[in-house]
Amino acid sequence: MRYAVHPFNKAAISPLIYEAEFGKRIDENGNKRKRVDALCPACDKGLHLVGDLDPKVDTIFSHYPSSGFCPIKESGKHKYRILPEADADPDRARQLKKAFFDNWRFHWNRFRQYVGHADIEDFIALIEYADKRNVWHYRHLEEHEVIIVFLVIKDFKPVLTHEGKVLRKHWVRFWFDSAVRSLDDFWHLTEANKVMLKASYKVPEGEKLSPDYLTNFQVVEVDLTYLSDPDEGGGTVPNYIELKMKKTVKKHMKKMQLSA
Ligand SMILES: [Zn+2]
Repeated sequence: MRYAVHPFNKAAISPLIYEAEFGKRIDENGNKRKRVDALCPACDKGLHLVGDLDPKVDTIFSHYPSSGFCPIKESGKHKYRILPEADADPDRARQLKKAFFDNWRFHWNRFRQYVGHADIEDFIALIEYADKRNVWHYRHLEEHEVIIVFLVIKDFKPVLTHEGKVLRKHWVRFWFDSAVRSLDDFWHLTEANKVMLKASYKVPEGEKLSPDYLTNFQVVEVDLTYLSDPDEGGGTVPNYIELKMKKTVKKHMKKMQLSA
């Protein structure tokens, strides 16, 4: 990866900054230098530089082979799945779903802010996907966390306007901390520990992400108050968004009335 966490001050550092501060691999006497490891933003394990001796390849940070599970090392798909809830409460699930659709404008606006430009079609696809898997049945899922599920089950590719203007050039992926292996683990954390890691990647050649494309990361706290104490305009959306969502909202509201 192209960024790591500074071992002492916890800032994001690039390989160049790391070498400037901790020295090159080989010292002036030709001996291997002892350097403190940079840290991985997701698993906190040590990272070392690779590629620094070969001018033909980029110098990047890499995990040690035996460092164990880390979400960033998973280059393929996300590991988080919406699983059937054994302990579901149908009334609560119905209420949650209805509340979500009543407040969809707030959810869309907050979702968009988390991702940093999002596509309404992605949002609709995520609603349909999550609905099919009965996300509403998670007993510990709060309304403001429905969009957190959306964030961690999908990658967000760059967003362009119809005219081809770039709104977001990076590929974005959200992870939980490495201690969290499933959505269920996440619901059982205390509110203060509910954080996500937002990783931005350069668009890979081919379709597959790998840690080598990671260009930036930040820790994102889960917003608990966008429904109870919304920002100005939190409940308004442009007309074209309203139009795109109309059918989806109507369909789900109708289905809920039929099943009441
Ligand atoms: Zn890691």
